[in-house]
Amino acid sequence: MRYAETGYNLEIDLTRGNIERVATDPKETELYLGGLGTNAKIIWDRVPPEVDPFSPDNLLIFASGLLCGTPATGCNRTIVSTISPQTRLMAFSMMGGFWAPELKYAGYDKVILRGKSPDLVYLWIKDGKVEIRDAAHLKGKGAVETATLICQELKEPKAQVAAIGLAGENRVYYASIEQGRSSASRGGIGAVMGDKGVKAIAVRGTRDLNIARPAEFMALCTEVLDYIKFRNDNPIPGVMPILAGLGSPQEMKVHDEKWHTENFMWGNSRVRRKDFWNEEVATAWMETLDSMRTRLISCYNCPMTCGATISPPGKPTYMMKCFSKLTYTMAAFSDLEFGLGIAQSATEYGVDGFSTPQVMAFALELYENGILTDDDFPGMPADNEGRFYWLLDRIVRREGIGDVLANGTYWAAKEIGKGAEEYAHNTIKKHEQLPLKLSMLNPIYFLMYATGEKMNITQIEGQFPQAPFPTREQREEFVKDWIQVPDEKFKQYFLDWELRGEKSIPYYPTPEMCCDIVDWQERMHYIDDALGMCAGLSSFPLKPPYHIHNYPKFIAAGAGIDMDEDKLTRAAKRYRTLVRANNIRRGMRRKDDKPPENHWKKRFPDLEKELLDTYYRFKGWNDQGIPTKESLDELGLDYVSADFEKRGIYSNDGDTPSKETSAEKEKGV
Ligand code: SF4
Repeated sequence: MRYAETGYNLEIDLTRGNIERVATDPKETELYLGGLGTNAKIIWDRVPPEVDPFSPDNLLIFASGLLCGTPATGCNRTIVSTISPQTRLMAFSMMGGFWAPELKYAGYDKVILRGKSPDLVYLWIKDGKVEIRDAAHLKGKGAVETATLICQELKEPKAQVAAIGLAGENRVYYASIEQGRSSASRGGIGAVMGDKGVKAIAVRGTRDLNIARPAEFMALCTEVLDYIKFRNDNPIPGVMPILAGLGSPQEMKVHDEKWHTENFMWGNSRVRRKDFWNEEVATAWMETLDSMRTRLISCYNCPMTCGATISPPGKPTYMMKCFSKLTYTMAAFSDLEFGLGIAQSATEYGVDGFSTPQVMAFALELYENGILTDDDFPGMPADNEGRFYWLLDRIVRREGIGDVLANGTYWAAKEIGKGAEEYAHNTIKKHEQLPLKLSMLNPIYFLMYATGEKMNITQIEGQFPQAPFPTREQREEFVKDWIQVPDEKFKQYFLDWELRGEKSIPYYPTPEMCCDIVDWQERMHYIDDALGMCAGLSSFPLKPPYHIHNYPKFIAAGAGIDMDEDKLTRAAKRYRTLVRANNIRRGMRRKDDKPPENHWKKRFPDLEKELLDTYYRFKGWNDQGIPTKESLDELGLDYVSADFEKRGIYSNDGDTPSKETSAEKEKGV
């Protein structure tokens, strides 16, 4: 008997219309857990580097995490993996909401799509039964609108629908997949779904899921709920409100946006407005949020209510959470009313709320600097807000300049030329980053930005405070109940961290300490992504309810897998290495492991080199960032080292350029 997982994947060949229910190997679950872990293994086994993002042989995998569908609070993530058209590396984007648990209840752990449908279709999965249905009537429809229409058509109001909008249909490189109360946005996974001719996947399940030791599991769940209650009643002192509690940053609850608006960059990640926040702005923004925020909502089985339904005047209601509340506003130098309004259109079109506003601001910056001209923007309104709406429409339709911009700032700049590349200044591995430009190099963040293979810093940070607390007393107070640390040494690292002097950034924490801290933070995110846990209750906030000490118990009692902290750490290291191996095989090397040039004003090349060298050694990677044969074999990944040897990857000196043709150009479209 399988526990926590169903033991079956759904494999759909869209070219042939073939549907298969495939039993999975429980040994793979033990080695790679589930979700991201087993996705990375499938991509390794079946998507060699010769396969391009828009090839029929690229896979698009919708995976539920190992513990999704169990009563574990907040465990609801769908992990969508494929080869990204933008980065040309392995993308894995997570969505919350309700889809993954529903898939488990319908009898499957993953849906694996391959091939391409000749006509636009949607998939209907109900309790083990699967249909490929015509979606011609849904062509061009919004993502949220599509979900509503499908539920009506199927007469299944409780079906969970993951859908793309026009952006996905037109293969915009930062197209998202939207799912009612969440979205998987990073890496252009919606473009791959559109390329495969799939408009949506609707799921309804009413079956049971087995738990290995139910009473023990429920006791663990109760402990987590008690801890959440305790933390809600006792926010961490000295930490900004959105980080002092649990959940995804509580952007839909807070009114005070001084920190974001004055510290994050406006426009094309260019301008910091240090005195922006004043009483007048605060009042206006509070009124806007209060009038448009109709309800606070949660994902499946979570009490945190960190999403909200937003009803902009004259527009349909949609759902929002986190920082996309501000991304459009700040890119357009506008106000919250504009931001919440355009985000409704962006959600229906299905685009990423981080990349899209930056691409539009980038286009306007090129225009202001004469690199693009009036000829590129025929009929564009004169006002900034009108321009953003105009650009959004062109991008998702791939019309005129929108066709170029639809590939993101990196590829667009290459195509535009004339010095445009100087303006595409905020990408890592070809993907737009948070609009942040800071002063002094932070060694922990340097390593995370440089080596992270998730597409957002918020998806590998957490656990360890972003900056030292001003006084020793505050730090002593903080470490007192810091039960989440995997080792007591982390407390000392933090206790000794000063704002100024010898033990301050950039030389403290030392490179060795930074390795420990980064590795711990990243490990927790990777564990979440295999289990399907929301980072908002685990790897992202300080002092979360889930951590390295109780996760093994959840896995043992829930999935019936014999587990302890070492074994879990090793499993996470195994599939984290496999993600890197997939990318190394696609040409990623040390040259790609770097933050944007201008991320910090004060840079320290020697220290940065030492940090990277030390981290590579710590991880068992060689000086090109390639996992060594010894480290791979030690993790049981000898099939990876054999492949690397066969392909001559170890003899690559790092000068081989990664493939530089965009997926669109390669297709000749
Ligand atoms: S913490 Fe927030 S984002 Fe995470 S599962 Fe709960 S409601 Fe969803």
